[in-house]
Amino acid sequence: MTTERTIYPHGSAHVDGKLVPISEAKISLLDWGFLHSDATYDVAHVWQGSFFRLDDHIDRFYAGMEKLRLSIPYSRDQLQSILNDCVAITGLQNVYVEMICTRGMPKPGSRDPRSCNNQFFAFAIPFVWVSNPADGNEGLHLVVSRQQRIPPSSIDPRIKNYHWLDMVTGLFEAYDRGGESAVLVDANGNLVEGPGFNIFAVKDNSLFTPAHGVLEGVTRRTVIELAAAQGYSVDQGELSAQQVLEADEVFISSTAGGVMPVGRIDGQVIADGKAGAVTRVIRELYWALHSQSKYRLDVDYQ
Ligand code: PLP
Repeated sequence: MTTERTIYPHGSAHVDGKLVPISEAKISLLDWGFLHSDATYDVAHVWQGSFFRLDDHIDRFYAGMEKLRLSIPYSRDQLQSILNDCVAITGLQNVYVEMICTRGMPKPGSRDPRSCNNQFFAFAIPFVWVSNPADGNEGLHLVVSRQQRIPPSSIDPRIKNYHWLDMVTGLFEAYDRGGESAVLVDANGNLVEGPGFNIFAVKDNSLFTPAHGVLEGVTRRTVIELAAAQGYSVDQGELSAQQVLEADEVFISSTAGGVMPVGRIDGQVIADGKAGAVTRVIRELYWALHSQSKYRLDVDYQ
């Protein structure tokens, strides 16, 4: 759905301080964000014309930049206003909104990251789903990848990053094995996260999710808060492949789609292959939260 003021209905981007159609957004070939994945980013979403938990995404973005010694010349309010403008110019109501800070380019002849001029980019495109089955309840077929996620001792996964070769390798492996997406493992074979999502298992009305080696997803946090408020216990610890195979329900969480059921793991059907009762409750509460003023910020489309 779009509003009357739609100018870039396929998406927009903020590049070099200007708003351009997404198809024209470009970065320098020499930016270390491209050459070395030397960048951090965050993805928020707009649902029915309002940002959801934007403050939390902005907090995580600034925290990531600080840890990586990156900075942008914008205050939180200025950043929020740039993101608003990116969305407003698309006229879209359901939007995937990404903010990025890259290392930029070093001085000519230098390889010193301190000489780099950090760059800021943002873009807004139509909402993206990790999984969006036609009937809403058919679960995703997930493969437990043999691929190990880059260890946290190497790259801190709490800093949202583009080190995705492990994820992409995992995705190809999942397709080769008949799955639709992959969940990666740590050095001990425990599940961590997948391309763009955290994972939860439900057993006897208790939720289990990996505590370490994962991005602390805003959706993950929302699920944990909602589950606790419903009286479900939430165990943040280790999650083995055996545990998910024996779970009553499994679901994934992401800004790109919210709470999404998993129906099969490595070809084995979980429960009846559809969203289970707890998954449905959490999913409904998650979407209901979008209308609460505490979590939403209306886009100013003017
Ligand atoms: N884990 C990874 C690696 C991600 O890239 C993402 C989101 O893109 C998530 C988890 C889920 O985080 P959030 O709920 O904040 O979207």
